[in-house]
Amino acid sequence: MPPLWDLPAPEAGHAARPNAAGQDAAGLKALVSALGEPAWRGGQVFEGLYRQRWTRWEQFSSLSKALRTRLEAEVDLAWPAIVQSQASEDGSTKHAFELTDGKQVEGVWMPYDDRVTLCLSSQVGCAMGCTFCATGQMGIVRNLTAAEIVGQVVAMLNHHGHPEGRPVNLVFMGMGEPLHNLDHLMAAFAILTDPKGLAIPPRRITVSTSGLVSGIERLGAFPRRPRLALSLNATTDAHRSAIMPVNRVWNLEALAAALAAFPLQSGERVTLEYVLLKGVTDSLEDGRRLAAFARRFPAKVNLIPFNPHEGSGFEPPDESRVGALCRLLSEVGLPVSVRRSRGQDVAGACGQLVREGQARKPKDSGLKTGD
Ligand code: SAH
Ligand code: SF4
Repeated sequence: MPPLWDLPAPEAGHAARPNAAGQDAAGLKALVSALGEPAWRGGQVFEGLYRQRWTRWEQFSSLSKALRTRLEAEVDLAWPAIVQSQASEDGSTKHAFELTDGKQVEGVWMPYDDRVTLCLSSQVGCAMGCTFCATGQMGIVRNLTAAEIVGQVVAMLNHHGHPEGRPVNLVFMGMGEPLHNLDHLMAAFAILTDPKGLAIPPRRITVSTSGLVSGIERLGAFPRRPRLALSLNATTDAHRSAIMPVNRVWNLEALAAALAAFPLQSGERVTLEYVLLKGVTDSLEDGRRLAAFARRFPAKVNLIPFNPHEGSGFEPPDESRVGALCRLLSEVGLPVSVRRSRGQDVAGACGQLVREGQARKPKDSGLKTGD
């Protein structure tokens, strides 16, 4: 694993021209000031970018024609582009995004009756090397910038249209370990939650971590922050270290202590995600140990039957076992849900679309091109 906090973190935009996409209000004010415009015009650009979700300078009708022409000539407006989209029978759509350097990440649009949840990536690849995860097998390529994180939301909302009357939830459960890219993640969080822009409430944003205790501690120190989910996935150090190398650095005891110290708001719970691997992590003893772990802080449990992918060497659990574990946990009073992996018929679990897209040529991949 590369040293933590020591990953390539590209500057936003191209070297020669600034990129307005992904910049905060202060950055946009500086950008328009450098063009000799009053700083408050930066606020108009902010609203155009994040409230209107305009993607071309000519759409910025709040600005003069002369300023639009100058921006067109001197400033990029470069968001990640949807290059492949694949709709699943369950209503979700998986998108592959191409970044300005040609790398790809993926995101998923998941509509429900009462909300729409967008699953987002935080890195190209992942350094954590979990043995059951397709992204983990890719290794780490680089961090995403704030523009590339916010851009996944902008692109999916523009592609599908903002859902009328249904709130938007964001979960960082796509490619990458979000707490391994916390600076860019929190810059994106500030933009995503700004009432003048996309205005997504902080409580509707969840960051999922494999258990970087240093990142959990840093996240807890932010006065405004997303909610936290932990991918627990095993209940003994021996099992967890075998499938999640991060456990060799911060074991279950260190994790429980960090979560017990995490400053939760009233009514807030930490989500414990638990991937069920047949014969590895799905015993009833695992269920009892999971319940004991979850008693140490306010928690809810999300059981995730393993989504198989080629060469993983793991199998999904029997349905009867999923039911038994679900009952065991709810009987001890834990809120528990089972996540049926959405988009399973289109390689839904994290990392699988991009991996398969790279392995196959687009013309025979069965994916239809995005808008
Ligand atoms: N890196 C972060 C967030 C991305 S992974 C983390 O690990 O939490 C999001 C979730 O998908 C994690 O809970 C992970 O354990 C789970 N996951 C990864 N591969 C999976 C697979 N093949 N089937 C089911 N869940 C998987
Ligand atoms: Fe990375 Fe999460 Fe996959 Fe582990 S499960 S390799 S932390 S993306």
